[in-house]
Amino acid sequence: MNEKVKCLIIGSGPAGFTAAIYASRANLEPVLYEGIQPGGQLTTTTEVENFPGYPNGSTGTEMMEDLRNQAKRFGTDIRYGIASAVDFTATPYKVTIDEKTEIEAETIIIATGATAKYLGLPDETKYSGMGVSACATCDGFFYRKKVVAVVGGGDTACEEAIYLANLASKVYLIVRKDFLRASKIMQDRVLENEKIEVLFEHETLGLFGENGVEGAHLVKRKGESDETKVDIKIDGFFLAIGHKPNTDIFKPQLQLDDNGYVITFDGSARTNIPGVFAAGDVADPVYRQAITAAGSGCKAAIDAERYLSEKGA
Ligand code: NDP
Repeated sequence: MNEKVKCLIIGSGPAGFTAAIYASRANLEPVLYEGIQPGGQLTTTTEVENFPGYPNGSTGTEMMEDLRNQAKRFGTDIRYGIASAVDFTATPYKVTIDEKTEIEAETIIIATGATAKYLGLPDETKYSGMGVSACATCDGFFYRKKVVAVVGGGDTACEEAIYLANLASKVYLIVRKDFLRASKIMQDRVLENEKIEVLFEHETLGLFGENGVEGAHLVKRKGESDETKVDIKIDGFFLAIGHKPNTDIFKPQLQLDDNGYVITFDGSARTNIPGVFAAGDVADPVYRQAITAAGSGCKAAIDAERYLSEKGA
């Protein structure tokens, strides 16, 4: 017989754990599946300086451990496992975990987050684990005193470039436009850092190297009359060009926007399916912050609790 739960939470970032804290305290006895990356994207970031209540900052890993312990303290049943399929056609909704265990849930909170994007170059696959990475915090250690490149011009790219500059001897920041999209404070930190060289208006054509990345083929001002091909010698190539929401298993049952983000309604965590709620980066193409994810996790749990009380459950 399938296990039946009142509230199933999929995902373990700030949204999932905050939903778990609220749902546990509301007696929804939530079961939370941690997914592919327990702790979510924050565990791949370094310093978290902007989460209110941490005047001296915290690390992403520490913050997620605190959130996890807080959810456990109120009785959340936290489990390892990946949701591999869902059936939202009838209540209770069915979620398959790891392609074998089926759980029936009266409410579901989707907090599956987003995943780093790649450029789509064959060389990214060729050199995967041999110099190509989408996580400076995970892999930066291997590039101490070496030369690396980071692709992207947003906050993530700047953050990763600064982090890597503390380890590497030199960091190229490859930016396709002639400006950085990152916040002013991050731009200033990058531009003032002597170890970081920003290559504006450069795009990556490919990578080269015998037994790992030894360099990148770039093009400057692609398509312009003064287009120039440039090679740089690097040991590591880091992607920081944005994220894709983790919503593949919910298609076509859940209403998604053009970029695959779950659509929620009227400022709530409600989706197009009653009893199914979404929180965090999976439903947020705009803010994507730990604090906004946590806030939306709180909303999702409150919405789930109200949905169940209205149903008289
Ligand atoms: P963004 O979408 O903000 O930036 C992506 C960057 O990658 C842009 O510079 C974009 O270039 C570039 N890019 C995208 N595709 C390509 C491509 N194919 N080739 C080359 N360059 C490409 O993503 P981030 O992950 O940086 O940030 C996401 C959100 O999270 C933002 O709202 C950001 O502010 C926030 N954030 C906040 C942090 C903090 O507060 N501590 C830390 C990290 C992120 P272009 O500009 O040309 O489009």
